[in-house]
Amino acid sequence: MVLREEYDLLCVGAGIMSATLALLVKHLKPDLNVLIVERLGKVGQESSAAWNNAGTGHSALCELNYTPENEDGAVDIRKAINICTQFEISKQYWSYLVAEGLIKDPKTFITPVPHHSWVKGEENANYLENRFKAFKEHFMFNSIEFTREVEKMKEWFPLMMHNRTEDEVMAASRIDRGTEMNYGALTEKLFAILKDEYDTEVLFHTEVEDIDPDHDEEWLVKMKNLETGKKNTIDAEHVFIGAGGGSLLLLQKVEIEEKDGYGGFPVSGEWLVCKNQDIINQHNAKVYSKAGIGDPPMSVPHLDTRYINGKRELLFGPFAGFSPKFLKEGSYLDLFKSINFDNIPSMWGVFWHNLPLTKYLLEQVAMSFDDRMESLRQFVKDAKNEDWEIVIAGQRVQTIKKDEFEGGSLEFGTQLVSSKDGRITCLLGASPGASTSVKIMLDVIEKAFPELMASEQGKDKLNEMVPFYNKEVTKELFDQELARVIKDLNL
Ligand SMILES: Cc1cc2nc3c(=O)[nH]c(=O)nc-3n(C[C@H](O)[C@H](O)[C@H](O)COP(=O)(O)OP(=O)(O)OC[C@H]3O[C@@H](n4cnc5c(N)ncnc54)[C@H](O)[C@@H]3O)c2cc1C
Repeated sequence: MVLREEYDLLCVGAGIMSATLALLVKHLKPDLNVLIVERLGKVGQESSAAWNNAGTGHSALCELNYTPENEDGAVDIRKAINICTQFEISKQYWSYLVAEGLIKDPKTFITPVPHHSWVKGEENANYLENRFKAFKEHFMFNSIEFTREVEKMKEWFPLMMHNRTEDEVMAASRIDRGTEMNYGALTEKLFAILKDEYDTEVLFHTEVEDIDPDHDEEWLVKMKNLETGKKNTIDAEHVFIGAGGGSLLLLQKVEIEEKDGYGGFPVSGEWLVCKNQDIINQHNAKVYSKAGIGDPPMSVPHLDTRYINGKRELLFGPFAGFSPKFLKEGSYLDLFKSINFDNIPSMWGVFWHNLPLTKYLLEQVAMSFDDRMESLRQFVKDAKNEDWEIVIAGQRVQTIKKDEFEGGSLEFGTQLVSSKDGRITCLLGASPGASTSVKIMLDVIEKAFPELMASEQGKDKLNEMVPFYNKEVTKELFDQELARVIKDLNL
C-alpha cells in the first residue's frame, strides 16, 4: 500500500465506528483522503466481532434499563424513544447502502428476531405492565404485546416455559420487529465498500503509539509496524480515535485539556453457548430480564438467538469478569498504564461510591461453571451442563469521568471527547454501542467537518441517507420510514 504524507482524516482502529465514519465522510465528500490504521491483521476483530458482543440491535424494545420507574410508579420512556430513534437512523443508513446496490445481502448482518422482556415476581410484573401501558401510547412502540399467561409465553419462548409450576408469577412483553445483528459481518462490508468504491484502505499490523500537534492545524500521528518494528509518522488534518478499548490510552497521550480526568475500568465478558442444535432450534427470540438491585445495566441477563456465519446459535449472558486488559488482544499492563495523577481522584471516587458494583464484579469473577449454569436455569429450568460451554466475549472499558461531588463517576453510555476545534475526536465507552454507530459518527462529523453538514449538498445527502437525523420524528414519518427500511433490509 502506497501511503501519502498527509491525510484529511486518519481513523485509529478498524472496527464498526471507524468504518461508519470513513464511509459517511466519503459519501459527503468523495475527494477527502482517508486512512484507517489497525494494529491487527483484519478488520472488526475486537468488540465489533460477532462472538465478542451480544448482537442486539438496541432499540429499547426489550432492554428494561432504558425505561426507569419513577417514584409514583409511572414508567419514563424518554430514553427509550432516544435509543429507538438512533437505531432507526442506523437501519436507514444500512438500507440506503442496500438500495444503492453497495450491499447485496443484508441477511448476512441483520435478521428479524422478536424482542421480549421477561420478569418474575409480582412487583416486577406490575412494572412491566406499566411499561407496556406507556409504550402502547407511543407510535414507536405501539405494536407491543403483554401477558401474564404461561400459555402465551409458551408460544413466544417455549424453551423457557418447560416445567414451570402454576405458582410462579411471571410477565412478559414482545415487540416483533426486533433485530439480531452480526456487527462483525457488517464491519467487513463497510470496509469492502470503502476499498472498492472509494479506494480507501486499511493499514494493517500498525499500532498508533502517539498523536502530537504539528504546526497549528495538523496532527503528527506516530505509528509502529508490529511485524517489522519499523516506526513511521503521518500528518493528518483530522484524527478520529476509534480504537475501542484502546481509545483511552491514546487519548491520554493527546495534548488537549478535554482529556483531563478520564479513566477506565475494564470488564471482560463470557457467554454460555449452547452446543445442542435441538435446543437451539427451540428458541427464536431475544429475551432480556432485569438487572439485580445495585447491579450495572451491562449485567442484565439475556437468552438470545444469534445468527453467526450463517449458523443459528443460542447464547446466554454476558457474565462479567475481570482482566486488566483494555482489548481482548491487549496487554495485561493496560489498566496500570492508564492510571496517572490526573485521574486518580476520579478512579478512587468511582471505587468508593460504587461499592455494590465492586461486590457484583467480585461475585461474578468467583462464579464457577456450575454457578453460571444455575443462573441459566432461571431462564431454562432443565438446562443440562453437557449442552453448554463457555465462550469469551469482548472487553469493555467502562468510562470514568471527573465528578465535582464524588471525585469520579462511572459512565455506562458512549462518550465523545473532542478538542474545541473538533480536529481530534475520541470515542469512549461501549453502550449502546454498535447499534447507534451511525448517529454517533454523524455527531463526530458535525464536530470535525461542520462545513460538510451545513452545505445544501450535504443536507440533501443526509436527508437521503438518514431521514430522521436532526429532525422531529412524527408518527407519519416514523411509520413511512419504518415500512421502507423493513422492505429494503428484507426484515
Ligand atoms: C460483551 C459485549 C456485548 C456487547 N453487546 C452489544 C450489543 O448487543 N449491541 C450493540 O450495539 N453493541 C454491543 N456492544 C458494544 C459494541 O460491540 C461496541 O460498541 C462496538 O463494537 C465498538 O466498535 P469500535 O469500532 O469502537 O471498537 P472495536 O470494534 O473494538 O474496534 C477498535 C479497533 O481498534 C484497534 N486498535 C486499538 N488500539 C489501536 C491502536 N493504538 N492502533 C491501531 N489500532 C488500534 C483494535 O485492534 C480494534 O480492531 C457490546 C460490547 C461487548 C464487549
